[in-house]
Amino acid sequence: MSKVLIIGAGAAGSVVAKKCAKNRDIFSEIHVASRTLSKCTALQSECSTPITISQVDADETAQVEQLIRRVDPEIVINMALPYQDLSIMDACLITGVHYLDTANYEPKDEAKFCYQWQWDYQDRFKEKGLLAVLGSGFDPGVTNIFCAYAQKHYFDSIETIDIVDCNDGDHGHPFATNFNPEINIREVTQRGKYWEKGEWIETAPLSVTETFDFPEVGPRKAYLMHHEELESLAKHIKGLQRIRFWMTFSDSYLNHLNVLQSIGMTSIEPIDYNGQEIVPLQFLKAVLPNPASLGKTTTGKTSIGCIIRGQKDGKERSIFIYNSCDHATCYEEVQSQAVSYTTGVPAMIGAMMVLTGKWQGTGVFNMEEFDPDPFMEALSAHGLPWHVKEL
Ligand code: NDP
Repeated sequence: MSKVLIIGAGAAGSVVAKKCAKNRDIFSEIHVASRTLSKCTALQSECSTPITISQVDADETAQVEQLIRRVDPEIVINMALPYQDLSIMDACLITGVHYLDTANYEPKDEAKFCYQWQWDYQDRFKEKGLLAVLGSGFDPGVTNIFCAYAQKHYFDSIETIDIVDCNDGDHGHPFATNFNPEINIREVTQRGKYWEKGEWIETAPLSVTETFDFPEVGPRKAYLMHHEELESLAKHIKGLQRIRFWMTFSDSYLNHLNVLQSIGMTSIEPIDYNGQEIVPLQFLKAVLPNPASLGKTTTGKTSIGCIIRGQKDGKERSIFIYNSCDHATCYEEVQSQAVSYTTGVPAMIGAMMVLTGKWQGTGVFNMEEFDPDPFMEALSAHGLPWHVKEL
């Protein structure tokens, strides 16, 4: 029986709150705080059991500290944006509370995500006897757990990993992103990157493609991208020789993105507009559909997994571990599309692992450093069944 504080009442945060509210044996008290109180109020009325709410600006450590002291949770689930990771981690350290998030820190003024900023908190969390769980969404998150599970049960050594992410959903809009538009566009427009034999190799944005046969979806063209779990898995999967990340995009998405980019609408450099400073990408976010509103109209499936090759008992082995998730089924359950669902459910499960003592430790941890078995069991029990295919 534990109290949880969720910060961020957006598309994915709403799923976390609704899933926690369905599991009161573990989450006995749930408090949601976010920048815009009306979003918390709306979420409160949609949860199946009572939750409490408040307003917070999580950029301000002092506000988060006060909030934590008032709510007195055992863990903070950070479902705000990557920009708030460090201020929330600082508040957890001051107040002595465990921390969990789904995306690594990124400064607002530079489109560059990387784990080092949060790995630098290792000693401080250790000294305080606290646990920080990084990246407990789907990718990163479940994909890291898939790799740890493969290493534990299927391989003596893993040589290559290809993480393949397909959202084959159709939301009915000419252009929309399936999670926070600002974060999504910053991620997609940066240079591609993969890791091979200890080196990072960079590629021009979306310039390398390959077709993969996605389970329950079919063959789709995917684009090589940099993604945050590459950094931690390259460090933690012993003997790994290469790791890459691939994501599918529809032609319509890419055409719109090309135009927006070429006219400067995806820039994060502030410009002067009628005497007011605005950031073009933030303005673009304001006019695009809110990802939380896409659930009702989205049909089709996501299919995300890891193609893993290595050695077992002296023989070569290749497997594909994946989950496929149906947008409409997610909407029926929690009024969200599958991208928010596949992010929110693992965040809830990560918190569950900590609160039930199945995952223990002090310091800052990536998901693959924990025992994957109880997490894999919980995935199937809470709406994200997974499959292993020998290739
Ligand atoms: P949304 O924009 O829908 O939600 C973000 C929420 O955080 C909003 O409610 C927003 O408030 C709130 N917020 C923003 N800034 C602050 C602040 N300073 N103080 C308090 N609250 C704040 O985004 P998503 O739900 O799509 O994404 C949430 C997180 O999940 C992101 O970090 C994203 O990168 C991550 N993610 C991870 C994935 C994974 O698989 N690992 C996949 C998809 C997303 P307001 O309503 O006022 O804007």
